[in-house]
Amino acid sequence: MRRDETYLGSDAYKTLSNKKVAIVGVGALGCSISLLIAKLGVKQITLIDRDIVEEFNLSTQLLYTKEDVNKSKVEVAKEKLSKITSSEIVTFDTHLDYTNINTVIKDVDIIIDATDNLHTRFLLNDYSKKFNIPLVYNAVIRNKGYCMVVSDNACLQCMIPKEANPKTCFSEGVFQPIIGLISAYAVNQTVNALLEKLNIKTLFYANLETDTFKQLRTVKNPICRACNGKFDYLSGKKTQNMQTHCGGKSFLFYKRDKTKGVKRTKEYTDFGDKVIVYSDTKSKALSLFNREFGEFKE
Ligand SMILES: [Zn+2]
Repeated sequence: MRRDETYLGSDAYKTLSNKKVAIVGVGALGCSISLLIAKLGVKQITLIDRDIVEEFNLSTQLLYTKEDVNKSKVEVAKEKLSKITSSEIVTFDTHLDYTNINTVIKDVDIIIDATDNLHTRFLLNDYSKKFNIPLVYNAVIRNKGYCMVVSDNACLQCMIPKEANPKTCFSEGVFQPIIGLISAYAVNQTVNALLEKLNIKTLFYANLETDTFKQLRTVKNPICRACNGKFDYLSGKKTQNMQTHCGGKSFLFYKRDKTKGVKRTKEYTDFGDKVIVYSDTKSKALSLFNREFGEFKE
């Protein structure tokens, strides 16, 4: 018998083997989490990420090696994970947003948030609340990290009412130990949520700079829009075309004339229906978009 099956029990193990898990983001957290999830023996793992592997990713993103630079993250992750798991692996090499979330994350039992920007986190939060699918929120920066399961308790918008422009690991850096610690905690919470034996009233906080670990109590905000059925991110009411994330700054534009396939250049990625432009400022990004794809209309 497998050692994890001995620990969990046959019934729990069987339950897990029928579950479908979506991992949004295959960066530092997503790599570590997907390795651990792959070993669990779940039925299906869906990986979503729009990025390619870059040289600076290699120090913190465990699935990638030098040979993988410039390849699609989800495709490399699928290739590596397929060697260590029999779980079915489904990939989406795209930018997840309100226009495609219903097709990309459908029919899953849990969503693991391993993204690096608040806008996508709020979109996942809306989706989790609307369709009653547990969401495992994770974040790491420097040598600190957070993990919280959003279910019928307080949600991410209860905790962070406004979409601020927070510090990211682009500006602050991130250290491997906290990525490992939060990934392990997140996978434990994922298993607990899937087996419906979860303490979901807290936000786990770990700070390896000060050797501090806390369970912070979470409280529902009575005027939280997501908890009151107002899904501004899922409906597209709140779209944001500027994002600061671990790779730097990027700007999202929706195209009027859709095309098929993904095209990548140093300056932008064209996903067919939308384009991500990599730039320091919005005006530079906008002029590039206008030059390549015709005039942008909000
Ligand atoms: Zn809420």
